[in-house]
Amino acid sequence: MKNNVLIVGGGPAGLEASSQLQRLGYNVILIERSAALGGHLAKWDRLFPSGVSAQDALKTLLGRIEGVKCFTDTEVQSINRLDKSYNVILSNGITVLADAVLMTTGFDLFEASRKEEYGYGIYNQVMTNADLEAYFRNHSDKRIDNPRRIGFVHCVGSRDEKAGCRSCSKVCCATAVKQAIEMKQAFPEADVFCFYMDLRLFGRHYEDMYLKAQKDYGIRFIRGRVAEVAENADGSLQVKAEDTVASKPLKVSLDLLVLMAGMRPSVSGRRVGELLEVPVEEDGYFSVREGIVSGQRSPLPGIFLAGAATGPKTLPDTLADARAAAVLVDDYLSGIFTEAKHYKNLVRELW
Ligand code: SF4
Repeated sequence: MKNNVLIVGGGPAGLEASSQLQRLGYNVILIERSAALGGHLAKWDRLFPSGVSAQDALKTLLGRIEGVKCFTDTEVQSINRLDKSYNVILSNGITVLADAVLMTTGFDLFEASRKEEYGYGIYNQVMTNADLEAYFRNHSDKRIDNPRRIGFVHCVGSRDEKAGCRSCSKVCCATAVKQAIEMKQAFPEADVFCFYMDLRLFGRHYEDMYLKAQKDYGIRFIRGRVAEVAENADGSLQVKAEDTVASKPLKVSLDLLVLMAGMRPSVSGRRVGELLEVPVEEDGYFSVREGIVSGQRSPLPGIFLAGAATGPKTLPDTLADARAAAVLVDDYLSGIFTEAKHYKNLVRELW
């Protein structure tokens, strides 16, 4: 009989792992708590660095999961560990006897309104990276009315002790450069500024995108944190920052400010983790057993992790991580991990 693998989270990691595990011959059950599969990818318009359509990428992933049992609007209600499997009761009333569980619970976007000094939810012309992607998809947002001066603020809720997140979100510098170029394409007369602390553009062709933003589109990169945003009498925004290269304070009037909200550990994923008793680290992301050599294994037997459940990742990172997790689930269920003794000891310690 085929082993059952339960995958919790129907974003890119869950979809890719589902397709790989199904191809390896497992009976895959994929659950997603929202009404549709695709996670954040489903809400995005174009992907850096090449500008390919996010919806086309999603269609490709969805096209590969034929035969996988998918339940949307479904959450884990309770989990009991049995001898070698998990008895999982879902919110739709179905019970799954899972031989392995893969958590692909993704991430939440930082709530930009928590950084009051940037004025999100206070001033009309302040939006987030996610809002701007929605505009690119729908071509409509009342905050965008032929803006002549546009600013992007990097590291919103990332690398920020006060916001409770020390780590870099890895994707938002590249997203800012991509979105700045797209805004310049949509509004060629606009002046576009990016306010950054460091630019972290490490992937293949990312640097080319950055050079193109400067050379072909005239986007200005200003090294310095935005300290405060206020509204001018004419309704435009006044942004105060410090240019740390020129070592002088700066005041800029803008028609639109875009906040690059970073990645945070998923709150709903954390809840499932608590049911399973998967440990989390200080930063709120799940712990892995051996970060470097097998970063997709939780410290618990039969529980695996992939994608942004273990920290910020780009989409290609996420898909590669999902494939690696599928291989480790297969190794585990095929008995290639001869670690039963280790697990027994571990289980004794934990339960
Ligand atoms: S990727 Fe860039 S914008 Fe995002 S947290 Fe890291 S340094 Fe900040």
